[in-house]
Amino acid sequence: MDRPAYRRVVVKLSGEYLAGSQPFGIDQPTIDRIAGDLAEARALGVEVAVVVGGGNIFRGVEVSSRGVSRPTGDTMGMLATVMNCLALEAALERRGQSARALSSFVMPEVCELFTRRAAHKYLAEDRIVLLAGGTGNPYFTTDTTAVLRAAEIGAQAVLKATNVDGVYSSDPKKDPSAKRFERLSHTQALEGGYKVMDATAFALARETALPIIVFSIAEPGSIGAILKGTGRGTIVAS
Ligand code: UDP
Repeated sequence: MDRPAYRRVVVKLSGEYLAGSQPFGIDQPTIDRIAGDLAEARALGVEVAVVVGGGNIFRGVEVSSRGVSRPTGDTMGMLATVMNCLALEAALERRGQSARALSSFVMPEVCELFTRRAAHKYLAEDRIVLLAGGTGNPYFTTDTTAVLRAAEIGAQAVLKATNVDGVYSSDPKKDPSAKRFERLSHTQALEGGYKVMDATAFALARETALPIIVFSIAEPGSIGAILKGTGRGTIVAS
C-alpha cells in the first residue's frame, strides 16, 4: 500500500455538499458516505481534523440582505457549522469511528471549546476532530478557518473538497477549453483570482507555507486516494 505523505491534515468540506441533491439541509446518505471516506482516511494512519461549512443551512451575507446585520448573519452561519459538525460527529460514531466536535464558541452543553491542546489530545487518541463554529469571527469563511486551524494544530496540508477535480483556468462546467492545473503557487492562485477558495484563505496559506490540495469529493474514497497520492487534484503550494 502507498504510504500517506502527510501525518496530519485538515479536510475542508463545504456545507452545500452535505445537502446532497436537496436545496438545503443535511442529506443522510451523503453525510454517511462522507463519514465512511473520513474513517477510511483515518485508517491509513493519518490524523484527520475536519472543518465543515454552513452554506447548506445559513450564509451570513444572504441573511444580512434581509434586515439582519452582517455580524449577526455571520454568527448564524457559524452556528450552522456547529449543527453540521454534530451531524457528522454522529455519523462517524455510528460507524464506529470515534470523533469529537470542538467549537470556536463556548457552548459547554453542546461541545467542548476548541483549544490547540484539546485538538492535539483527541487527534492523538485516534479520534477525528470536527472543528465547529468557523473562526468565531464574522467576515471570515470556513475556508479561512481550515487554513487557520491547520496552521495552529501543525497539519501538513489542507484538503479542500469541491465538486471539481482541481483548479481550472475557468469554470469547466461552462467553458470546455478550461485548463486544469496540476500545481500552482499560492501567489498564482491569489493573482489568478480562482474562485475555488477565498483570497484570505490563500494569503494565510502562503504566509504559513501550507499546501492546499483541491480535489473532488464526488467519487467515494477520494480523500484516501489523495492521501495515498493516487487521487486527482491540484496542489497549491509554495
Ligand atoms: N462564517 C463566519 N466566520 C467564519 C466562518 C464562517 O462568519 O470564520 C459564516 C459566514 O456567514 C458564512 C457561514 O458562516 O457564510 C458559512 O460558512 P461558509 O460560507 O464558509 O460555508 P460553506 O460555503 O463552506 O458551506
